[in-house]
Amino acid sequence: MDFAVSPKMQTILGMIDEFVDKELIPLEPEFLTKPSTSLRPVFEEKRKMVKQMELWAPNHPKEYGGMELNLMEHALVSEALGRSPLGHYVFGCQAPDAGNIEILHQFGSEAQKEKYLSPLVDGKIRSCFSMTEVELPGSNPVMMDTTAVKDGDDYVINGQKWYTSSADGAEFAIVMAVTNPEAGPYLQASMIIVPTDTPGFNRVRNIPVMGHAGEDYFSHAEILYQNCRVPQTNLLGPEGHGFVIAQERLGPGRIHHCMRWIGICNRAFDLMVTRARDRIIAPDRKLAAKQIIQSWIAECAADIQSARLMVLHAAWMIETVGKKEARKEISLIKFVVANVMQKVIDRALQVHGGLGMTDDTILAFYYRHERAARIYDGADEVHKISVAKRILKEYENKKVR
Ligand SMILES: Cc1cc2nc3c(=O)[nH]c(=O)nc-3n(C[C@H](O)[C@H](O)[C@H](O)COP(=O)(O)OP(=O)(O)OC[C@H]3O[C@@H](n4cnc5c(N)ncnc54)[C@H](O)[C@@H]3O)c2cc1C
Repeated sequence: MDFAVSPKMQTILGMIDEFVDKELIPLEPEFLTKPSTSLRPVFEEKRKMVKQMELWAPNHPKEYGGMELNLMEHALVSEALGRSPLGHYVFGCQAPDAGNIEILHQFGSEAQKEKYLSPLVDGKIRSCFSMTEVELPGSNPVMMDTTAVKDGDDYVINGQKWYTSSADGAEFAIVMAVTNPEAGPYLQASMIIVPTDTPGFNRVRNIPVMGHAGEDYFSHAEILYQNCRVPQTNLLGPEGHGFVIAQERLGPGRIHHCMRWIGICNRAFDLMVTRARDRIIAPDRKLAAKQIIQSWIAECAADIQSARLMVLHAAWMIETVGKKEARKEISLIKFVVANVMQKVIDRALQVHGGLGMTDDTILAFYYRHERAARIYDGADEVHKISVAKRILKEYENKKVR
């Protein structure tokens, strides 16, 4: 494997690092203490600057105004942007829009692309993805109560979803609903585009998550679909292919998420080391002089480095042998990086003592919000089981002495 970063990418990453340091990190104190809606004009101004720098939508197709970086390149960008919770949003590559853009590009009709994909890549509108249900296990989404029943030229959707991230202020949702109840479990559900102003699309609430309901892009909603009627032309891809398309959405998306988490680790690590370097704990002693803190610094450095290499390797596997062949590597990074991130944030917070618990640094925000990484996109346990099953299969007829 070649670890060299191309001159083009070195330039791009240098520009992003500088932008994150100068334009985004200084916004964080306001972001942590005020509703994000009040920062909308500032976000728009920063987005304009990113467009002028020609760094907008780094992973999205060129024909729609993106940079169309490949997976390895965007992995590095995602790491750089992960150093601030505002990075991906301001550069136009934030979840869940990024995943929705991928599937609209791959499976959308020309009419769907014109109406939804173009303004979405451009950042003029936002979207959400509505699959998880309140009463049924998200870990086993083939158990789904939401239905889309044909009536004339329409689908009529009924069901209760939650954790529809960023539904507040979104223009449309991509909803998973059962359209073919008689088919096999993986062919029952379809993806359907539902404009959020459709009668029967009811955003019940933004769910309080770790004490904050949030608003706008930074929120997770509960949605009640009550006789929500949309034309059948809003079907995304073939009917019954909801899970097939969902798989497409998750592979590269996990690389983006994991590298964003590495970026968070880098930021937490920077804060931890500088705090240890500067904090006086006795008249003649700094915190960094303590061996236990030195041990944490070394362990975190090793954990971040190994997690980062695992993600880059998985991205390289996807690019060289394909998503299907890389399934073990994708599952491995999902739970390894989520846990490394949790440990690094926790250690950084501990080194900051009482300060770490406040919103005077970004650490408490990360501690609250990033715990979810071990749950969404497949809980740790689900990925571990999947990895173990693949390994056991590899060993089925393997002779070992
Ligand atoms: C911050 C956040 C954002 C999210 N955003 C979205 C979104 O935009 N759209 C969307 O549709 N959903 C979203 N989700 C939902 C997410 O996908 C689900 O929470 C996840 O799939 C787990 O489903 P569940 O919550 O129903 O937990 P369950 O399926 O009930 O699982 C609970 C726990 O049981 C254990 N478990 C589950 N299955 C197994 C198994 N086979 N073996 C061993 N242990 C197991 C795991 O520890 C798991 O955490 C989001 C969730 C969070 C927290």
